[in-house]
Amino acid sequence: MERDPVCGMDVDPKTAKHTSVHEGKTFYFCSPGCKKTFDADPHRYGHQKKA
Ligand SMILES: [Zn+2]
Repeated sequence: MERDPVCGMDVDPKTAKHTSVHEGKTFYFCSPGCKKTFDADPHRYGHQKKA
């Protein structure tokens, strides 16, 4: 399973319909809304720092 970086849900890459590629890495999303949020600001979600 991959993790949706926006909402934290687990997403199965085999069935994921919503994906984005950012700096060579594929991200998987549970919904079009999460993908849209990611695409609007991929650096925020694609390079998560340890809180
Ligand atoms: Zn999501």
